[in-house]
Amino acid sequence: MESILVLTHADDTGSALTKASLEAVTAGLELASQLGASLTIGIVAANTASAASSVASTGARMLAVSGEPFAQPRYATDAAACEALYRAAQATIVLAPASARFSRVAAGVAHRLGGFIDTHITAVSAGGIIEATRWFYRQRIEAVLSRDARPWFLLLDAGTRAAFAGAAAPVQVEEIAVQLPALRTTVSGLREPKQDLQTIRPNAKLLLVAGAGWTKKQPDGQIHTAEAAGLILGFLKAAGASLGSSKSLVDQGSEGQSVLPFLTHMNQIGQTGATPRHAKGLSTCCHGEEPHVVGWRFIAERRAISLDPNCGWTRGKADVVYVADAFPVIAKLNALLEAKRA
Ligand SMILES: Cc1cc2nc3c(=O)[nH]c(=O)nc-3n(C[C@H](O)[C@H](O)[C@H](O)COP(=O)(O)OP(=O)(O)OC[C@H]3O[C@@H](n4cnc5c(N)ncnc54)[C@H](O)[C@@H]3O)c2cc1C
Repeated sequence: MESILVLTHADDTGSALTKASLEAVTAGLELASQLGASLTIGIVAANTASAASSVASTGARMLAVSGEPFAQPRYATDAAACEALYRAAQATIVLAPASARFSRVAAGVAHRLGGFIDTHITAVSAGGIIEATRWFYRQRIEAVLSRDARPWFLLLDAGTRAAFAGAAAPVQVEEIAVQLPALRTTVSGLREPKQDLQTIRPNAKLLLVAGAGWTKKQPDGQIHTAEAAGLILGFLKAAGASLGSSKSLVDQGSEGQSVLPFLTHMNQIGQTGATPRHAKGLSTCCHGEEPHVVGWRFIAERRAISLDPNCGWTRGKADVVYVADAFPVIAKLNALLEAKRA
């Protein structure tokens, strides 16, 4: 008989569950109902009371590890917390969000418990047997995995299911004591780039992708990199969008060409870059070649602005293509967005 443990953790507030944790709760509920299995939710947070009440309506058994040592991500404390929660739950299947915090410890915890782990899971289902789905080879091959070994840990990619949302309610929480190992790491705080410099926003609804065209000679024979930078940053700010780039554009920096200063290889979308998940994507000044478009696999609605009526986007890779000059189009869009905000 299978039993399911969903491991969750709090966000920066220390008391609310992260969106990815709530997505894991949804996955746990679905799997438990398919299997007719028991469901336990394990929470790691400084203060677990309100996190637990936010998922009380699942009817799951609620276990918690709380206290100051668990306020900050740290391998030793997070691994000890997950291990203690597992030992209390004794589940056969463990679902956890693939957050930075749990991705770091989940394999180690599975090993300590003599279990197995699979990562980047996008779907879990149970017909006759439990099957987990993930992509390989830069999202080109989709594999369906099953295992007899237990406990089986599955790290769930974010954005692959709806976040659990239920009415908050009082709930009985079993507090699990953790034997902490000697702590060698002291977390002194978080340093983050200023909001304006943060161009990669995984939770944004829209992905704006900049291609090499932004830094190429335009019809007046000149390049307009500074203007391009202003338009792109203006759009990101007005739309709250995340910024992606083609490989050609980020590569230009190392080739001594004119570049957009806020772009790095972290922004690159494609076969050799990232495959983000957003509801919508808008490609600008980019050709839409296959190795780039591979990174758009999980963008639900795709639009592109390109001067080239024969570019890859127009050949069936985008839902809508505007054959137009992106400079005036984005300038107009920014003006409309600003007017809407005012
Ligand atoms: C093994 C391999 C892996 C690769 N992996 C990746 C990857 O992960 N990601 C990736 O992006 N690429 C990847 N590439 C490269 C990819 O094949 C393309 O070369 C690259 O994506 C092209 O980038 P681009 O469209 O920005 O530039 P270009 O091909 O130079 O296209 C620029 C476009 O901008 C348009 N344009 C210019 N000015 C304007 C304007 N004012 N308004 C509107 N449009 C304008 C032009 O018409 C042109 O279509 C890979 C290639 C290989 C061989």
